Amino acid sequence: MDFLAGLNPSQRAAVEQTEGPVMIVAGAGSGKTRVITYRVAHLIQKRVDPFNILVLTFTNKAAKEMRERIMKVVGSEAKNIWMGTFHSIFARILRVEAELIGYPKNFTIYDTDDTKSLLRAILKEMNLDDKLYNVNHVYGRISSAKNNLISPQEYNKNEALMAEDRENGRPQMGQIYMTYAQRCYRAGAMDFDDLLFKTNVLLNKYPETLYKYQHQFKYLMVDEYQDTNFSQYLIVKRLAAVNENICVVGDDAQSIYAFRGANIQNILNFQKDYPDVKVFKLEQNYRSTKTIVNAANSIIANNKNQLEKNVFSDNEEGDKIKVARAFSDNEEGKIVAEAIIQEKTLKSLPYKAFAILYRTNAQSRAMEESLRKLNIPYKLYGGTSFYQRKEIKDLIAYFRLTYNPNDEEALKRVINYPRRGIGDTTVEKIIVAADRNQYRLWDVVANAQMFLDGRSATSVGNFATMIQSFQAVGNNSSAFDTAMHIAQHSGILKDLYEDKSVEGLARYENIQELLNGIKEFSEREDIEQKSLDVFLQDVALLTNDDNDKDPNADTVSLMTIHASKGLEFPVVFIVGLEENLFPSQLSLNSRSELEEERRLFYVAVTRAEKKLHLSYATSRYRWGTLNNCEPSRFIDELNPSYLDLDFNPRTSGPSDGAFKSDRIAWQTKEKDAFSKPKPKVVKTTSILPKAHVPTAGFAPSDTSNLQVGMEVEHERFGFGKVVNLEGNKPDIKATIFFKELGQKQLLLKFAKLRIV
Ligand code: ATP
Ligand code: MG
Repeated sequence: MDFLAGLNPSQRAAVEQTEGPVMIVAGAGSGKTRVITYRVAHLIQKRVDPFNILVLTFTNKAAKEMRERIMKVVGSEAKNIWMGTFHSIFARILRVEAELIGYPKNFTIYDTDDTKSLLRAILKEMNLDDKLYNVNHVYGRISSAKNNLISPQEYNKNEALMAEDRENGRPQMGQIYMTYAQRCYRAGAMDFDDLLFKTNVLLNKYPETLYKYQHQFKYLMVDEYQDTNFSQYLIVKRLAAVNENICVVGDDAQSIYAFRGANIQNILNFQKDYPDVKVFKLEQNYRSTKTIVNAANSIIANNKNQLEKNVFSDNEEGDKIKVARAFSDNEEGKIVAEAIIQEKTLKSLPYKAFAILYRTNAQSRAMEESLRKLNIPYKLYGGTSFYQRKEIKDLIAYFRLTYNPNDEEALKRVINYPRRGIGDTTVEKIIVAADRNQYRLWDVVANAQMFLDGRSATSVGNFATMIQSFQAVGNNSSAFDTAMHIAQHSGILKDLYEDKSVEGLARYENIQELLNGIKEFSEREDIEQKSLDVFLQDVALLTNDDNDKDPNADTVSLMTIHASKGLEFPVVFIVGLEENLFPSQLSLNSRSELEEERRLFYVAVTRAEKKLHLSYATSRYRWGTLNNCEPSRFIDELNPSYLDLDFNPRTSGPSDGAFKSDRIAWQTKEKDAFSKPKPKVVKTTSILPKAHVPTAGFAPSDTSNLQVGMEVEHERFGFGKVVNLEGNKPDIKATIFFKELGQKQLLLKFAKLRIV
């Protein structure tokens, strides 16, 4: 079968142009990602070795999906393609090459929490005011220096940067950056930005290494190229320099990461970098209805800084875009949940046809509550990652320390957890002793009697001996045995087991889940090295979405617009379309910021295939106070002929500008409503389900005879029905639909379940 038949002529031409530089700048839904996918399959069919192909995607999930599609065409060879995010691919390369640039191969990856914790410690040591030197600000400044390839030394010599810091009242910024970099180095750790920064250092300083990878990666492809930063741009440019078989695809109208240093110029300058580039235009949108495509075009037309593009759809006209107004965020949630039920029934759609998109993570709460009330199963993307939970991080810190005892953030995290009588004063003493002697913390800990006295010397000494014993186990045992040994002997399992609160139980279950994951990893056949340090390597790079156990589950998707990039759903709800929320209050200072918000709106709108719903609330709790809200200017900017307003059209006038006059009408009404006492709202940010109070005398019963269809009660999740059982004893997984929470998958041997 000619699989290229699934492409239109321009897409096909781009796929077949395998040699030389290629660029596709095209609107949303025009098949850019599809071109990359087909291109890779085509290359492999043309007998290019998959090991020679490098594909950089924006999320791990996108890479996984692409790989699966390619597998359908070329079979299991697709496993050998180098495909993933910039961070995961270059972490993998650094694992091989780190020693060249003075890092151990098993360097730790510091996640955002580790970075902030280290920065806080440095600020404290330097006696700096952490209001002025706000840790997020400091982090952002260092991050942007790294993404622009400015080393600490260069930063401190750069008059312009230093002057800027002085003007902002933060003259010590350069020194903080210097100390931070030294401390990461001492700890054998790289933060997220280092993964790119150090890759650049490596490729710049070691021509033979650069040569090796230039010849390995004969074909390079980058999706979402508009969101690459300078550091990423330079890596790609260096790697592609020999063969110049580089294909980048992107859409300047979807550049939404400038706040993280992404540089739209990379796409605009591509032609300068590669003068003989072949440019392909894709103009047909295959994703959305005419109404949605035209509405999206009408939004982006408001941006001054835009490449001319002509995007059209040959799909049906489709429904108008529904605009709903609610009195509060809770009511907005209710409207959305009811619309989902209605549309699901009317059009026989599965839940996974629906997505709810919002500007900020905090907005998910009201949505989740309403979905739960109507028993609508949902999945929250990009929420706190499983690997970010405290108990998971604690245990992982022990793992990290076992393989890299110099990892200072891990050391500080667990030196006294579970409690073993090593107080803050002792930890301070260790830090001071290390700094004074230019030692690493671990050198002090491992030689505690030289630096500490009495009881603290003994406790710290015991801790060091324990870690050393973990190292011995780690060298000789499988990942799972090592992990289990550490969980038991560190005291973590016992500590959590003894905590009988609902939260304690959940934490214990999470640890079990982590251990199960490690067991699965130990048993995998597709990887050679299965020791715990290999499992550990990329844990810091995993997000909630990568931990998705059941990607085909029938659930409504909830995520921020940033996280929705590249995805598509039949029905999309964009909620919270209010001034100061979307566009964000923080983005109203300049045209360029406002234009980025508008691009974000464009991204959101173009996720929808068949039907788009917009909504806003006229009042919303933010930061604990109730605010009146105005509808977003973005609604006004949409050509009204595509809209279907769900409120009284008579107050809004008959035609263009309808929305504006309506706004005035409802504002007066609202004001009256709010002269009354404010409703009391219990603020909660927890996304966890409310604890289920078990019926009297809860005792898990024998579930070995559990069958599909049976009714069960879970200690925390409440009543539910078994919808599926899979796997073999003792690892049977049950999928249960809980009345209050929707679908969940549980490992039977750990589940606190009772047959009712
Ligand atoms: P975005 O800018 O949002 O990332 P994109 O340009 O990458 O979008 P794709 O996701 O590749 O677009 O394609 C959008 C949808 O259109 C997908 O469902 C894809 O399978 C479909 N599609 C693209 N090209 C064709 C085609 N020639 N025939 C049929 N379907 C197509
Ligand atoms: Mg895409």
